[in-house]
Amino acid sequence: MTRQFFLARAAATNLRRAFSVLWLILSTSPVFAGPIGGGLTDRWEPHATVGLLERVTLKVHWYGSLEALRSAAIEHNVGAIDLHGFSILRGNAKTGEYVCDIYVVKMRGAFVDKGRTVTFGHEVLHCFGFRHE
Ligand SMILES: [Zn+2]
Repeated sequence: MTRQFFLARAAATNLRRAFSVLWLILSTSPVFAGPIGGGLTDRWEPHATVGLLERVTLKVHWYGSLEALRSAAIEHNVGAIDLHGFSILRGNAKTGEYVCDIYVVKMRGAFVDKGRTVTFGHEVLHCFGFRHE
């Protein structure tokens, strides 16, 4: 086993663990109680044309307030009503590479910043090809 293969395998294991943690947070979070809660895990599915991605370049755009985030959403033609974060996934047809821009309000520095951490994780799932209604 080469060192490069070992590192790739370790990275894949870490990615699976990260998804498991995100899945647990998203599926049990009281932040999404109500219309999005409950059967949340049943609503996520791989993007029909992209599938699930193993490699994505993430670019995070942090905002100091919800108002600033929502202004950015409008600039990107994303509906801003009740918005807490959004992401835009772009693929390069020539190289097959994907870049995902995540737009979220800056976390306050707590280890887990409840709604903001959940929103960040939600947008990361979108970046790896997960979709929901
Ligand atoms: Zn979403």
